[in-house]
Amino acid sequence: MIARRGFLRSFSAMSYESYFTAKSLRRQPSAIRSLQPMVSLPGMISLGGGMPNPSTFPFESMAVKLKSGETMELAGAALEGALQYSPTPGIPALVQTLTSMMETEHAPPALARSLSVTTGSQDALYKAFEMLLSEDDALLIEKPTYSGTLAHLNAVNCELVCIDTDGEGLVPAHLGATLDEWPAHKKKPKVLYTIPTGGNPTGVSMSYARKQEVYAIAQKHGLIILEDDPYYYLKLDGPRVKSFLSMDVDGRVLRFDSFSKILSSGLRVGTVMGPTPLVERLNLHTQSANLHSSGLSQAVVLALLQKWGEAGWNSHLDMVCDFYRGQRDVFLRALDKHLTGLASWNVPDSGMFVWIKLHGVEDSKALIEQKAVAAKVLLVPGQVFLPDNQVTSYVRAAYSTASPEEMDLAVSRLAALLKET
Ligand code: PMP
Repeated sequence: MIARRGFLRSFSAMSYESYFTAKSLRRQPSAIRSLQPMVSLPGMISLGGGMPNPSTFPFESMAVKLKSGETMELAGAALEGALQYSPTPGIPALVQTLTSMMETEHAPPALARSLSVTTGSQDALYKAFEMLLSEDDALLIEKPTYSGTLAHLNAVNCELVCIDTDGEGLVPAHLGATLDEWPAHKKKPKVLYTIPTGGNPTGVSMSYARKQEVYAIAQKHGLIILEDDPYYYLKLDGPRVKSFLSMDVDGRVLRFDSFSKILSSGLRVGTVMGPTPLVERLNLHTQSANLHSSGLSQAVVLALLQKWGEAGWNSHLDMVCDFYRGQRDVFLRALDKHLTGLASWNVPDSGMFVWIKLHGVEDSKALIEQKAVAAKVLLVPGQVFLPDNQVTSYVRAAYSTASPEEMDLAVSRLAALLKET
């Protein structure tokens, strides 16, 4: 097993109290949940908790047939554990396996860190925002950014401070200037939310050098970085770029990963990893929201990772990246063929999106709603990725599910519309 270096040290340069919202600080550990990890101690007879008796559950065993032809069987203690209430951070063996994988992949500087399994990364993000962001706070976000995050933030009603992005993602100079010039009378932002790889919607990735610049700015201004990286493993060109977590000497990075794009989105398994005080407080939100994420989904992921080992995991990642690289290339060819002169776009090096600027179209939402749907080509209007819901000529296209023929046909339909417009 890989040495768990970062987990043995227990210092952090930061104190987190001032980052937590009043609502989050009022959350207390659940007395019953605190007993949960002790249930599995050797020799323990539990008369505590409100665990149902698994002998009444109707499931004997579950067999999962993989596309490789192999079968994974969930039975006995593993199945019983999966079907019973389990610890809030996740099934311990899965937490340990994922922690080791993260340590190997990111080798973060030594610091007390924890990892919790969440119901997809959306769940972890929701709780992180609930933990760190009040109505009177200001949050630094990239423009454009993920609509799912905006949907939540709009309801929080905090100030969204937009930082420009370019072909390499978030622009450090703009971030630095925004903070340097922050008006003295206003509450200063303390959190930056960023999607560093294969950004949704832009498909753009941040270079390591940029991440270092951003990290230095975060150090200067005392920011916590929320690193939302569900496309990290979908690196289509070149090696994966080291994460913010990998450079986090201070304990200011909370990192969100997801199995949604790699194993299954319906399993709803993601992780949050970062300084123990942050992750433990986030666990308090889980305790009152959903106790823990689905044990069965966790057990499936654990069984798969155990079956695969490192080699199997890596070869699966290669297969997934090969697939999306092929999809991207087909889609880019279709764009070249049909949209040259009618639109402009970037070449994404990761993820599954292309951010397309439609020439001569002021309001892409109107075009999509009024014409594209009727012409049977569906795109997401750029507006939904803009914090101020501003009208834009951009659209987001995903090359993940359409066949090569469908991609060509869809882009030709869009081209016809643009010519007509
Ligand atoms: N963050 C980003 C940037 C995403 O694109 C998505 C999925 N569309 C999520 C988070 C949520 O992913 P999950 O399925 O892990 O909840």
